[in-house]
Amino acid sequence: MRILKEKRVRLYVKRIDQTHEYISGNKWYKLKYNLVEAKKQNKNTLLTFGGAYSNNIAAISFAAKENGFKSIGVIRGEEHLPLNPTLKFAKEQGMEIIYISRSYYRLKHTKEFINNLKEKLGDFYLVPEGGTNGLAIKGTAEILDSNDVQDFVCCSVGTGGTFAGIISASNDKQMVLGFSAIKGSDQLEKDIGSWVDECNWELISDYVCGGYAKVNTSLIEFVNDFYSAQKVPLDAIYTGKMMMGVLDLIKQDYFPRESSILAIHTGGLQGNKGMSERLEIDLPIL
Ligand SMILES: *Cc1c(COP(=O)(O)O)cnc(C)c1O
Repeated sequence: MRILKEKRVRLYVKRIDQTHEYISGNKWYKLKYNLVEAKKQNKNTLLTFGGAYSNNIAAISFAAKENGFKSIGVIRGEEHLPLNPTLKFAKEQGMEIIYISRSYYRLKHTKEFINNLKEKLGDFYLVPEGGTNGLAIKGTAEILDSNDVQDFVCCSVGTGGTFAGIISASNDKQMVLGFSAIKGSDQLEKDIGSWVDECNWELISDYVCGGYAKVNTSLIEFVNDFYSAQKVPLDAIYTGKMMMGVLDLIKQDYFPRESSILAIHTGGLQGNKGMSERLEIDLPIL
């Protein structure tokens, strides 16, 4: 890329989207110790929440099947037929899909809500929406290894569980940049601060592109151009926004000359299919 030569920085991409074919990128790491814990607790069902295009729903449906669990996905909103590619995939893995209203969905963190589900569905191991809990952060701390010595490490941020794990695995000479995919990051920033002891991180909210799961034409164009030029497919919800941010910051001389940057490709490509169908746009589809 010309801009890298011009600004004299090096950009590396760590393709954890290729860790597992169906348990996408960071979700594999977030699930790793949760699966161990669910087995330890002798649970036979995993239950999680998500939107109709959720990477977490797709990942859990496959991980449950692969590890001998039943799975239940509680989806925000009502059923739309034919099923979108994410829910069709989840169902094919044997996931039981339950739809709840958006207003009821907001109560999903309450004890009453969970107890109600347990009364109806039997016991389960709960993986929170987005998959973030303490065990998830233990897992995402394994995304970085001793070869990842770049000056800057960049990743996309939803709930912040992945970012937190990466921060805790970083060394004190590194700076970790999180590119938020959701609006309103004050609470998010507090959450992340409560999960990590380190201070070598910054949450960047300039590349949200209108909000979570929202896209605009410049983002779509960027993702498609990046794919043709670099042969690296990005998703439109997370990694596309992060990479657009990284390259924009390079342009703005945010990174000192001669510095090295590692961008983590956290996956999410399963979502491109549903989004391109829904919005009738082109996106890289594998
Ligand atoms: C879920 C997801 C994220 C966000 O991860 P958090 O740990 O919730 O911040 C980032 N990228 C991709 C591709 C994801 O699927």
